[in-house]
Amino acid sequence: MSNPDLILLHAPAVYDFRKRAILYGPIADGVPSTPVFEMYPLGFFSLLEHLERNGVRVRIVNLAARMLGSEEFDAEKMVRRLKPRGAFGIDFHWLPHAQGSLEVAKICKRYHRSTPVIFGGFSASYFYEELIRCPEVDFILRGDSTEEPLLQLMKTLLQVRRRRPHDFEFAKIPNLVWKEEKDESSGEVKVRVNPLTHVPARLNKSVNNYFPVFKSALKYRDLKSLIPFHGWSSHEWLDYPITPVLTCRGCVHNCVFCGGSRNALAGYCNRRKPAFRDPELVAADILRTTNYTRAPIFVIGDLRQAGEKYARTVLERLKKKRANFENQLVFELFDTVPNPREYFELVAESVKNFNFEISPDSHDEKIRAAVGKRYKNREIEENLKWALQAGCKKFDLFFMIGLPFQTCESVMQTIEWCGRLMKKYGSGKRVVPFILAYSPFLDPGCVAYENPAKFGYKILFKSLEQYRAAMLSPSWKYALNYETEWLTRGEIVDCTYKAGLRLNELKAECGLVDRASFEVTAEKIRLAVELTSEIDEIKKLNDGTDATDGTDGTAQTQHQKMMRLKPKLDLLLNSVINEKEGLEWPAARRSLSLSVLRLLKAAVTEHFKRGG
Ligand code: SF4
Repeated sequence: MSNPDLILLHAPAVYDFRKRAILYGPIADGVPSTPVFEMYPLGFFSLLEHLERNGVRVRIVNLAARMLGSEEFDAEKMVRRLKPRGAFGIDFHWLPHAQGSLEVAKICKRYHRSTPVIFGGFSASYFYEELIRCPEVDFILRGDSTEEPLLQLMKTLLQVRRRRPHDFEFAKIPNLVWKEEKDESSGEVKVRVNPLTHVPARLNKSVNNYFPVFKSALKYRDLKSLIPFHGWSSHEWLDYPITPVLTCRGCVHNCVFCGGSRNALAGYCNRRKPAFRDPELVAADILRTTNYTRAPIFVIGDLRQAGEKYARTVLERLKKKRANFENQLVFELFDTVPNPREYFELVAESVKNFNFEISPDSHDEKIRAAVGKRYKNREIEENLKWALQAGCKKFDLFFMIGLPFQTCESVMQTIEWCGRLMKKYGSGKRVVPFILAYSPFLDPGCVAYENPAKFGYKILFKSLEQYRAAMLSPSWKYALNYETEWLTRGEIVDCTYKAGLRLNELKAECGLVDRASFEVTAEKIRLAVELTSEIDEIKKLNDGTDATDGTDGTAQTQHQKMMRLKPKLDLLLNSVINEKEGLEWPAARRSLSLSVLRLLKAAVTEHFKRGG
């Protein structure tokens, strides 16, 4: 087994979270991963596939998932042993990785001083000017589609392994940011920024699932390091290998808080309009996946974004093979469907087991309109009615805290509306609402971040260094990067717990959670509230504003007191207000364990078919 040319590393949000005492709160309650955000970005799949297809060998190491998997796992030792021929690549996609990604880069440099470290992802693209000045960062690839620029960079680095490539060689690579060689006389390092011109208009070139990743697992005999997320209390990803199928990069909508919106991506990724994958290919991706696994398939991006015809083409293709697969398919809705009866009936004719998700954010139509979503409650109800009537297995509704015009009173009204929807449409417990605070960060680049006053926001952090430090805050309350005219940071936190408690009660009343789960969630929220006030007291000590217990208020005292809370804080690592099991889709667990074996078998077959 020869060394890979490129090793893609995924860091935990905070390094080393196992040795730190932090109340992360419910910041990851809406996603399958923990607050360490151990799930690596989907871009890893297409990067790996594109480079491998062009002769550059790539290995993925999910350090975050390995660290979560075992207290004994020594990430530093593992990085020390890795020997990429060309470079390390580190994703800095989600801003919560501001501290973790840089710490992992430092470890790479500690043991492999001359091996280049390449950064990429949304946050790397937004903060590229500050990021490139970090000594542990050699290159940044900006944009949302860096497969081809990364290939060019890797070829350049590999061709001239015994010397540093000349600057004119780097100057040809689109989207690249790099440091010129240090001027020996002045000691000055000049940063060079190539134009962000590689922004593909279509998304048809790469494959769209785990297959290339499983092939890599075979090559490096290391399935553990490839696992996209560690899993939560009930089981691991290996038991429940939900597979994503991407339909687009970019979005036609412009929700004011979204870093992936039309205006946001135009601003820092130079993407003027979304790149769609052809609908025939999307259908083929789904069908190909169903050949090997019975696990749920999450179709990312509303099929109707590119128009009715696009959605219809995907569904008609699936319809022809409907009898051949039982997988749960999960579809997103970015707005309500105007012709719900017809649309959901078409979905039902095309897919036996289907589920939907929509994010109305608030029950209040004025608030919803302020964030850029103009659909009405009446339309949401019509969608629920017809989807359920057509046989939808589960319809998730996501609501947010921290929006323009939103008070805590309004949030609690939203929760009561959730209760009414569960009661009215909940036969079979199929309508499942979630409440989440917008946390820990309002996305840099989004419309509200760039024009905060217009939407009633106050942005508290601006620089990368502030975000790095924020992730080490003792509690998520101090990590939040915003407050609104209507809610301070403390009120957002308090309101989140209050709303979580009430929603939990309503879910128990409607039979969505059993008594035991209800008690577990209620207890977790109570513990989070208690820890929040204890941490506030500890924080005051550090600020030197209160030393009522006779301590000297030093950082060391604060650290010791926080570490004493660590066993309790660790109880809240998986989730706080929304149990992760609520994010699952109905599927026979026992059959899912076999899925990974099937995927591996598929990867072996393809490996030999293509001559390895
Ligand atoms: S929140 Fe969803 S629909 Fe709105 S801009 Fe972002 S990706 Fe698009």
